[in-house]
Amino acid sequence: MLSLAPVLASGRQDTLTFKSNAVIHRFPQKSVYITKSVYDAPGLNFLVLHDDENTGVLAAHDFCRLNGGSITELEYGNERNISFSNRQSQFSFDPNQIFNNAGAAKTLKKYSHSKAGTTTVMQVRQLAIKVLDIYNPDSLGYIVTLHNNTDGNFSINSYAAGQYLYGTADSVYVNPEMDADDLVFVTEPSFYGYLKQQQINAVLQSPQAIDGSLSVYAQLNQIPYVNIEVQDGHQQEHLRLILAVHAMLKDVALQPLYAKKEK
Ligand SMILES: [Zn+2]
Repeated sequence: MLSLAPVLASGRQDTLTFKSNAVIHRFPQKSVYITKSVYDAPGLNFLVLHDDENTGVLAAHDFCRLNGGSITELEYGNERNISFSNRQSQFSFDPNQIFNNAGAAKTLKKYSHSKAGTTTVMQVRQLAIKVLDIYNPDSLGYIVTLHNNTDGNFSINSYAAGQYLYGTADSVYVNPEMDADDLVFVTEPSFYGYLKQQQINAVLQSPQAIDGSLSVYAQLNQIPYVNIEVQDGHQQEHLRLILAVHAMLKDVALQPLYAKKEK
């Protein structure tokens, strides 16, 4: 009797599927959905904070379909900043600047029409706490975020002498063959060394950098942090860099230098 192997005739393997769950964080007249899509195999776990950056989400699904993992993303209307209003007051903030109290107050001040009091700052801080609770870096042992930028604004060259981010990075590696908008931003010297060796545009955050961003929160709390950032639309390049980071986390984690840092 003829027996067929359970592999499709084309040689293609079945891809993994996922289940999504959303937790809602409510501001006055505004709901922010923290959606977590969990694939049916472990792989790499991604966090996407800016709702108008969609290339990273697509690339993360490309990765997870074959390798497994999860994608936690904030959804609030396809914009960069989260805005909500309260009777006569109108508030806006950048969800990547709310990971300490001072940062939350500062980003509210920068983007809001109204003056934010302690209650509003705390409402915003509650969102950050919920996001960390759902993504759960303490159990993962890392944070991998995905961001997208637009051509010619922020790039690896923003860290060069005389540019607006000069001084916030300890080391910068530029591969002139890569698009300057595509890079990996890390907090661990061992990650930086690995990426440089792979000739991938890389930025090592300086411990002097202090703001309300997730990367600063991660560095202060000794959670290895990776932001894979490409220009909007560079989906293939985003996937390539995700695969490189996946390999990096496997390789570097085995090195004694990395293990020594764990408490
Ligand atoms: Zn972003």
